[in-house]
Amino acid sequence: MKIIVIGAGIVGMATAWWLAQDGHAVTVVDRETAPGRGTSFANGAQLSYSYVAPMASPSVLRSLPKWLLKADSPVRFVPSADPAQWRWIAQFLAACRAGPGAEATAKLLALAAHSRAMLHEMMARTNVDFHHRPNGKLVVQSSRAGMDDAVAQMRLQAPLGSEQHALTATECIALEPALASIADRLVGGIHTPSEEVGDCRMLCEELHRVLAGQVRFLLGTEITRIAVEAGRVRGLETAAGPLEAELYVLAAGVGSRVLARGTGVPVPIQPIRGYSITARVRDANTAPVRSITDIHRKTVYAPLADSVRVAGFAEITGAGAELRPGRIAALKDNLEATFPGVCDLAELSPWSGLRPATPTDLPVIGRSRLGNLMVNMGQGSLGFTLAAGSARLLADQIAGRPPAVVAAHYAPRG
Ligand SMILES: Cc1cc2nc3c(=O)[nH]c(=O)nc-3n(C[C@H](O)[C@H](O)[C@H](O)COP(=O)(O)OP(=O)(O)OC[C@H]3O[C@@H](n4cnc5c(N)ncnc54)[C@H](O)[C@@H]3O)c2cc1C
Repeated sequence: MKIIVIGAGIVGMATAWWLAQDGHAVTVVDRETAPGRGTSFANGAQLSYSYVAPMASPSVLRSLPKWLLKADSPVRFVPSADPAQWRWIAQFLAACRAGPGAEATAKLLALAAHSRAMLHEMMARTNVDFHHRPNGKLVVQSSRAGMDDAVAQMRLQAPLGSEQHALTATECIALEPALASIADRLVGGIHTPSEEVGDCRMLCEELHRVLAGQVRFLLGTEITRIAVEAGRVRGLETAAGPLEAELYVLAAGVGSRVLARGTGVPVPIQPIRGYSITARVRDANTAPVRSITDIHRKTVYAPLADSVRVAGFAEITGAGAELRPGRIAALKDNLEATFPGVCDLAELSPWSGLRPATPTDLPVIGRSRLGNLMVNMGQGSLGFTLAAGSARLLADQIAGRPPAVVAAHYAPRG
């Protein structure tokens, strides 16, 4: 079948790969001149298969007033006049209850486990190199209450297939000696040996390389409108002329909102801005080996080749992705306070991007109300983790194969 995939981020690229394996004639269109230039560019680098609990939870609801009032808070909200933002906030608050939170966690864990298997299959069938490392993840706590909550979450997830262990502060440092500098505030941590890291942008570029010759890429091509006629997509309008196919896949991250306007297809996505820095390691012997999440500073650290990627913050402040220097300085301070002297801070790469977040954190995957438009979007803070499984689920639906996860859990509504 002739299929156009809109978006060459990690979700679109993984989708193109699975569709090409099924023998479809795939075209990928992106306004950027290379793949992985949107939110997939410099994210936290975590393939975080066991840390999928949605942001909408009773504990986040409890912490929100404190966060929103603090000047240096990890969370920021600037209200807008956009009714879509208020609809999203209302749905998010409704999802901040224990029942929906546990349900979404179970669905995300299932998709994440599938995604791990599908990424490993892609890796086995290609020679993609994206600094992938199965190095495990350690989430450290600096308060007894935080540790108790983390142990409770670990117990909740154990029957759902997550293999995790609670460690004391001493055990955390024995596992990851680079944490010695914060020994005085460490209470303990949860270790998940099966978590992985990788460079998401590199994987996009590598998929571009392995798909060359099989998939047509129209890069540097902005889609200005999805033209709809009689309940179907008639074609895509671009500055370079119209594009037509039998089937279209909308995988444009936060850009899906703008593109779907006027089509009647709901896109329940809010851009949630986050920041990262990538700093070169000065001395590999003192650098962290595992992914570390420091709950106290709400910051994640991932070792990537000869660098450390540091990421954090969640801002609902609209669709701009400008860099706020204060945020970059805060990530730098966190890196230096947690791993003093490990990285060269004089030469770091700052970045900010927009997570395509749904109120429940569940992505939206499947056929839209327009018969020939499928969507693969809303992977939020887990797009790198969920991309391979989301893409395979979509390809299964197009092929009419029974999927390995329950498709209805992620199906578009309305
Ligand atoms: C700070 C931060 C840290 C993160 N850390 C992690 C992490 O550790 N692990 C994890 O799993 N996830 C993480 N994420 C989330 C992850 O990066 C995203 O979920 C993922 O990159 C989304 O991929 P995507 O393909 O949907 O979107 P994108 O990568 O944004 O791709 C969408 C593409 O569509 C194109 N496009 C949009 N509109 C148009 C148009 N009109 N015409 C043509 N092209 C268009 C864009 O140019 C873009 O290339 C993080 C995100 C942030 C911001």
